[in-house]
Amino acid sequence: MTDHLETKFIHSAGVDKTTGAVNVPIYLSSTFHQESFEKFGPFDYSRSGNPTRLTLEETIAKLEGGTRGFAFASGMAAISSAFMLLSSGDHVLISEDVYGGTYRFITEVLNKFGIDYTFVNMTDLGEMAEAIQPNTKVVYIETPSNPTMNITDIEIAAKLAKANDCLTFVDNTFMTPLYQNPLELGADIVLHSATKFLSGHSDIVAGLAVTKDEELGNRLAFIQNSFGAVLGAQDSYLLIQGIKTLGTRLKQSSESAQAISEYLHKHSLVEEVYYPGFTFHPGHPIHVRQAKGFGAVLSFRLLSKEAAKIFTENLRIPVFAVSLGAVESILSYPATMSHAAMPKEEREKRGITDGLLRLSVGLEHLDDLLADIKQALHKVRQETGELDFLNQR
Ligand SMILES: *Cc1c(COP(=O)(O)O)cnc(C)c1O
Repeated sequence: MTDHLETKFIHSAGVDKTTGAVNVPIYLSSTFHQESFEKFGPFDYSRSGNPTRLTLEETIAKLEGGTRGFAFASGMAAISSAFMLLSSGDHVLISEDVYGGTYRFITEVLNKFGIDYTFVNMTDLGEMAEAIQPNTKVVYIETPSNPTMNITDIEIAAKLAKANDCLTFVDNTFMTPLYQNPLELGADIVLHSATKFLSGHSDIVAGLAVTKDEELGNRLAFIQNSFGAVLGAQDSYLLIQGIKTLGTRLKQSSESAQAISEYLHKHSLVEEVYYPGFTFHPGHPIHVRQAKGFGAVLSFRLLSKEAAKIFTENLRIPVFAVSLGAVESILSYPATMSHAAMPKEEREKRGITDGLLRLSVGLEHLDDLLADIKQALHKVRQETGELDFLNQR
């Protein structure tokens, strides 16, 4: 009998075998005494392995259905470490609307080591197939993408990658193992910014990676130990605790995100809403085939920067900040936050205009969030109406 993921979230870490403690102990020890002169125990030094971190790593491996899990000091540490599997002369194919930090690592760090890259629109598999080169070694996918929620067909992309002897990496931060299991769809490594939904409380910065096969797992283990960007024991503990409530949190937040998306879609001051839960979202048919939910993040476009400013300043409940995936709703402004480093034209080409806002829906009561959004939009109408009036004079 296999348990549902919600059950696994709670019980995968198990109880402490020696004391029965229901929570994993936090092993704050950098080094480990060896009983025998000849035969060493399972742990020697915490960069190479720590019991608290190992519990977390085994947990995420089970949840993603992989062979090995790895915990890193941040999502970017996990992503960068995975890219270190490559060698000079290799080429990577990346979806053009990846997370800004991934974009920066590939274009400004990895390129210094002789690793070439091409960004493609991965919603167009023809474009992707054409961009594969003889030295392409990795196809890198993020779906849904940020902030305009484009959907890539993981299964087809992974097949195409495999046919060309490439590995497929998937950043699964937005969906988590609850809603999407890239390894089952043919991916080789699944990556997470565990800073977001997995931990869920805006308290820690952490990253996770899971490999599908044993050999790749050994190679990534070697890099994790060599590069050393590991997650500390206290943060590993907090992440294990966060994962326990992931099922309930993400389901509730996603339900509210769907309702808020629908409300915004009908509002006359909102030009466009990006949410994969809409049946008219272009990626919807692919998304429902490969994922079990639509997630808690949506983006929407107001008419101008001025409107976005008034809306943000009048919103009462969500925090105005970068990041996402927490118990509190988080509103962010991609143009100056997540995508500030991108030139304006590049940004606008991707739909990230000056009126675009991103909302990560938390666990506040839906009625309170809707009432808050309603009153803030009302202020936008009042104040931009007034601006129109002033402009006319
Ligand atoms: C935040 C984020 C990252 C980076 O993770 P950090 O924990 O901030 O290093 C990577 N990918 C996605 C989709 C993210 O949202």
